[in-house]
Amino acid sequence: MDPDSMLTCRLCGKQHRAVSLQPGERALCLRCGAVVARLSLLGPRATLVFAVTGLVLAPPAALLTFVTAGKVGAVRLSLLFTGPAGLWDGGMRSLAILVVLCGGLFPLALLATLAAAPAPRRPGLTVAGFEPLVRIAGFLEHWAIPEVQVLAVLVAYMKLGSVVNVSFGPGFWCYGAMALSLLAAQHSLVLEPNGPSAAP
Ligand SMILES: [Zn+2]
Repeated sequence: MDPDSMLTCRLCGKQHRAVSLQPGERALCLRCGAVVARLSLLGPRATLVFAVTGLVLAPPAALLTFVTAGKVGAVRLSLLFTGPAGLWDGGMRSLAILVVLCGGLFPLALLATLAAAPAPRRPGLTVAGFEPLVRIAGFLEHWAIPEVQVLAVLVAYMKLGSVVNVSFGPGFWCYGAMALSLLAAQHSLVLEPNGPSAAP
C-alpha cells in the first residue's frame, strides 16, 4: 500500500489504512485508542479562510489610527508601531524590536504560512510542502502573540482612562479582529507533522 496513504499512531506506532472523515469526526487507533486524525467541524478550508481574513485585516491595522489620547484640547493619534518607535527613541531598542516581531512580523508570517498550508482533504494523504510549512507554523506560533498586544492596550486604557481621554481607532479594531482570525486559523489546524488533518 502507498505509505503516503497510511496513518501512523503517534503513541504506539501502529499503522492504519487512511479513511475518509466527515467534519467533526475522529479516527482512533485500533491498538491504543489514541486520536490519529480529526477533521474540523468547519471543514478543511477553515484554516485558509481564517488566515486570509487575518492577512486582509493586517494593512488597515498597521496604517489606520490605533489609539487616540488627549486632554484639554491636545489630541495625540497613535498607530500600531508608534509604541515601539517610542521605545526605540527611549533607548529600549531590544524591547522595541521584540514588540515589532511578536506583535507584527511573526503574526503576519504565521498567517501567510497557515494560508499556504491548508489541510489535506483526507487524513493520511500528503500535500506537497505541507509538513515543512506546518513545522514553520509550529515555530512561529510560539512568537506570534498579537493577543498580548491587544490585552496590553486594554490594560493601558483602564489605567489611563481616568487621566486622559482615550479612544480606540479603526486600526485597533482591525488589529483585534486580525488577532482573533489568527487564533481561529491556528485552532482549526493541528500543528503536528504526523497529524495532517484539521482539528475541531
Ligand atoms: Zn496507537
